[in-house]
Amino acid sequence: MPITPVKHEFKAEIKQLLNILVHSLYTSREIFLRELISNASDALDKLRFESTRNSEIFEKDSPLEIKIGFDPENHTITITDSGIGMADDELIANIGTIAKSGSIEFLQKLQEDKQEANNIIGKFGVGFYSVFMVAKEVIITSKSFNPSIPAVRWKSDGLGEYELEQLSAETPRGTKIEIFLKEDAQEFSTKFRIEDIIKRHSNFISFPIYLENEKINTVAAIWREPKSKITKEQYAEFYKFLSYDNDEPADTIHISIDAPIQFNSLMFIPKKNSDFFGFNRENYGLDLYVRRVLIQHKNKDLLPEYLNFVKGLVDSEDLPLNISRETLQENVVFTKIAASVTSQVLSHLIKKAKDEPEKYAEFWAEHGKMIKLGYGDYANQDKLFQLLRFNSSFNEDEKSLSSLDEYIEKMQPGQKEIYYVYGTNRTALASNPLLEVFKKKNVPVFYVYDQIDEFVLSSLRKYKDYEFHSVDKSDLSKLDEINSADPGETTAAPLSKEDQKYFENLLIKIKDTIGDRVLNAIESKRLTSSAVCLVQQGDGIMGPYQKMMRLTNKNMPVEKKILEVNKDNKLIRNLIELFKQDENSEYVKNMVIQLFEIAQLTDGDLLDVHTLAKRLTGFFEESTTLYITKSGK
Ligand code: ADP
Ligand code: MG
Repeated sequence: MPITPVKHEFKAEIKQLLNILVHSLYTSREIFLRELISNASDALDKLRFESTRNSEIFEKDSPLEIKIGFDPENHTITITDSGIGMADDELIANIGTIAKSGSIEFLQKLQEDKQEANNIIGKFGVGFYSVFMVAKEVIITSKSFNPSIPAVRWKSDGLGEYELEQLSAETPRGTKIEIFLKEDAQEFSTKFRIEDIIKRHSNFISFPIYLENEKINTVAAIWREPKSKITKEQYAEFYKFLSYDNDEPADTIHISIDAPIQFNSLMFIPKKNSDFFGFNRENYGLDLYVRRVLIQHKNKDLLPEYLNFVKGLVDSEDLPLNISRETLQENVVFTKIAASVTSQVLSHLIKKAKDEPEKYAEFWAEHGKMIKLGYGDYANQDKLFQLLRFNSSFNEDEKSLSSLDEYIEKMQPGQKEIYYVYGTNRTALASNPLLEVFKKKNVPVFYVYDQIDEFVLSSLRKYKDYEFHSVDKSDLSKLDEINSADPGETTAAPLSKEDQKYFENLLIKIKDTIGDRVLNAIESKRLTSSAVCLVQQGDGIMGPYQKMMRLTNKNMPVEKKILEVNKDNKLIRNLIELFKQDENSEYVKNMVIQLFEIAQLTDGDLLDVHTLAKRLTGFFEESTTLYITKSGK
């Protein structure tokens, strides 16, 4: 067959990536070796997987291994694997395009924060290109495991183009990568340097790595060793290898289950949440092995998504080696393993919360946001309840947190519900009128500062015998049985019968004046000092949901609420007086709308602040004029 090299151009985003890699990243360039070895290891895993499926395999008996050669004189490094290999179209598809989602965001982030690059590059399916940080030219020779596919050679200087040609000569199975080092990267072609890099970054690769015929990595599946034989340092080393994290793990969970299903699992909880920018969400999951053979990288079904910060692997004795990834989810053994692993992680966290509350608080600060999203996992709800933490009225400051059980301990005799309130911060909550009655009765309230928390609590519905309720639900009759902690409080003189009638008419006027924007205006039983507040109709289940929706959809209508009016408040007394003098007073009407809108504003429900501001300025004008008159000028 006539063979001539054909030129191809890199896709635009690859050019952009290469440009950044080559021109601006100089720190830890050594990770290029980690990336290439990791690709070689993946290729060997894929080959092993093919063998279990009885595919016909070229050079079936050649050993699965990675070989590294170097030439300090000519400044070259060669990485060879006997893995699955690539056909020419696979080379074009895999190396030449960024296939995975998130790569564009990755590029943007890379431009902003180049320091992060080395930690994340391998996670975005762009690891191969890191070789151009050190190489002026790269030649890939690859022979597919498929006997009928010819070998190919790929060649590029990483600038804009690559060359591809078919080879006719006999080529061993797998992939060889030859790197011609740049002048400023010649340090990498020495034994000492290469060995050091492999020991630090690739020690746990599960295939032997030979450096000039000398095996240099530890090929031990440490998760299959008894716990007592593994040191903390070994765990940490393995974690770093697995996660690319430079830090030690916060927790190590190593389990070995024998019955009813036999499996080992080694999992880690990182100290920091590594979902760097929120768009790295696909990059989670546990690696699934069957009797030491890697079946799937980052399987997403062993743990629920709300535990996606957990890194690690599961190795099963009972699954068939040739199980297809597509049918895993329907496999009973697999689903039992998944349920068991999930339960183990949750139990570990519950124990941590109990035994090391301070450490647990650190964990919560980092990963709590994720855990809360487990509200829909009914099978594990009892465990999740024990993990939740919120700030509450009985905590000393905004930073302290309480569990649901701690809340229950603080409940008042006769209290039947668990209450929560949303606010932007603790200071803002201090003046929230909705909390007046709770303070008066000394009823504890969870303070939540994230609208998602409100949503989570309302979705959880109930803990033990107590339903969760927002403090702005309309019906507070359940509080009636709780005696006021502060009965001696001075209250305004009761309204005369006549004034009570005027007040009731004023309420009708208020409803008329505000119109459609309010469900009703009623006398308040909950306010002790403020003039008005808005409460939700019914049990307040829809409120948090609508607020959540409004976070993403600005056109979501504002939920209509009930306006409660405190007839003992001085301002309201004045309004009753003015209303008595003139039932159609424009001043009273304006004031009523103003009060309503301020209540909406503090609830985060006011869509038009400008009108409110303008009206308020009008009131200031009036009151300054009055003040001048009063002071006798
Ligand atoms: P990732 O490894 O995250 O997929 P890379 O940029 O490191 O991203 O590699 C891109 C793709 O190129 C790999 O997914 C694989 O399909 C292919 N590839 C790279 N190196 C090899 C190799 N040594 N053998 C076979 N395929 C390889
Ligand atoms: Mg890779």
